Amino acid sequence: MDGSSLTRPKSGTDTIIVRHPDFYFSDGSVVIIVEKTAFRVHQSVLARHSEVFKGMWDVPQPQKTDTYDGCPSVVLQDSVNDFVDVMRVLYDAFHFDKIRPDTSLSHLITFISGILRISTKYNMQQLRNKCIAIIQDKFPSSLRGCDDVLTRGIQYVPSEIVRIIPLARETTVPKVLPWAFYLCAHISVDEILSNTVLSWKDKSLCLAGKERLWELQKKETHSFLLDFKQAPTCTTGCQARVMVPRQLKLSDIESLRINPHPLEEYTDWKSLMICIKCQAMVEAQHREGREKVWQKLPSLFHLGTWEDINKDQSC
Ligand SMILES: [Zn+2]
Repeated sequence: MDGSSLTRPKSGTDTIIVRHPDFYFSDGSVVIIVEKTAFRVHQSVLARHSEVFKGMWDVPQPQKTDTYDGCPSVVLQDSVNDFVDVMRVLYDAFHFDKIRPDTSLSHLITFISGILRISTKYNMQQLRNKCIAIIQDKFPSSLRGCDDVLTRGIQYVPSEIVRIIPLARETTVPKVLPWAFYLCAHISVDEILSNTVLSWKDKSLCLAGKERLWELQKKETHSFLLDFKQAPTCTTGCQARVMVPRQLKLSDIESLRINPHPLEEYTDWKSLMICIKCQAMVEAQHREGREKVWQKLPSLFHLGTWEDINKDQSC
């Protein structure tokens, strides 16, 4: 950046304003100053995406409008990095194409965070919807969607995606929270406690959720692995053969307790070596248990019901 990009505002303060190297257009019609960085952009472009920006300079001002470099100007209290991300979207038609199928979830969250924050704050509905669609593809709000992400084998690294929780709260995207909390219940207790992103309330919810998910896995979805009871119509004495409980070692149980995953679909029915009637019964229990867990999922983390969540999400 050359010296001409530095200037002092006419107010006479010693704050130095830096012109953004990519988004200070000589034919721009308005100047937006964010964290001491000036963006000279086109109001008509902003107005296409946001009623807030459309009206920002239209309403007759009771006082003289601030100007910068001969253009109407305004100072916004946002993060400059967030604002730059939105400018990239507005001025680069292919910005979202930078998301590749192999883009990591952590990078994806970083990519959309600023755009989601700014588009929410300034009511840029299309941009907001685009960001929400991108994250909801990875954070499902239906059991079918959950099955889909599990089948796709999406790599979730809970400690890297925990940022989605405060982001979703800040930008009112509650639909992603139940699955985000479900994943974060797999973070170790020590790591949750030392986490610098989550609030103490959300840390408590992760820890409590870990216990609740394990209880549901034991009692609802995978009870047949821990406390097998044969079907009333069983004629081969499956329970007496007690083959099933022996398949789980203490270390397996401990691992499940630490990383509860009641929504994991069990498919290895043949290995249980039980009769067809018992298998039909436990398959039905497992299926119904998963549906029950999914329905309860928001309430496990004090998020209300799915109906509450759908109502709260503003789009
Ligand atoms: Zn049986």
